[in-house]
Amino acid sequence: MARHTRRDCSIQLQLSSGANVFEYLKSLSINPADHLTAVQALPGGKVDVTFLSEDVKRRFWPTISSSTNVTATSYADTVKVVSVLHVPHELNDNAVRFVLGKFGKVICGRFLTHRDYPSLYNGVRQYKMELTTDIPSSLNLGGRDCWVRYAGQPRTCLKCGKCGHEAKECDVTKCYKCLQFGHVVRNCTADQKCTTCGKPGHSFRNCPVSFSNKLKCSTAWIRGGAEVAENSNSGVRC
Ligand SMILES: [Zn+2]
Ligand SMILES: [Zn+2]
Ligand SMILES: [Zn+2]
Repeated sequence: MARHTRRDCSIQLQLSSGANVFEYLKSLSINPADHLTAVQALPGGKVDVTFLSEDVKRRFWPTISSSTNVTATSYADTVKVVSVLHVPHELNDNAVRFVLGKFGKVICGRFLTHRDYPSLYNGVRQYKMELTTDIPSSLNLGGRDCWVRYAGQPRTCLKCGKCGHEAKECDVTKCYKCLQFGHVVRNCTADQKCTTCGKPGHSFRNCPVSFSNKLKCSTAWIRGGAEVAENSNSGVRC
């Protein structure tokens, strides 16, 4: 996993829209003048907060990480909060956990909802993970390219998954049928491959990992990684 600049005194907060970072910090008895050296607003409602020292950060971290209205990630922590955006709503969470499991251990996950409509899911799912390797900025889940975000993630090309350039500059040709590079779907001679589990012989729609008609949504964290059925109704093993 790529080692980034040491940021042991810094954390990242994801605030709900309209929330004020200073009010939030003060509600936890964090005094910007006494405890912090930097508060930096980032795109998408994210804020980097840098404490005076590691000791000061450690003192407040338990309260911050357990607060319910803010998602907090510590840069020094090996456990990352990974957000996956644009996930098709009906996709079994097992499929997402299965794909994420290729990059580390999924500890738990939850579904996010619209702020003004708390019973409406918004297509964003979050997972606490112990990463063993960095996750590309885009993963194909349930037939759609979904975006993946976490603090300290190196940006990769949304098309080919490599670092150093953006999708609009990418000259790699990718086949969305067999997931190989160098040709497009209409020239593909390979057998179909599942875009979720990567195994041949079935599409993501029939993938035993993806669908069980038992979608369990929860805004609370649900523990566990993917459960892979040994034998599914379709008889395909993943
Ligand atoms: Zn690329
Ligand atoms: Zn192909
Ligand atoms: Zn599959």
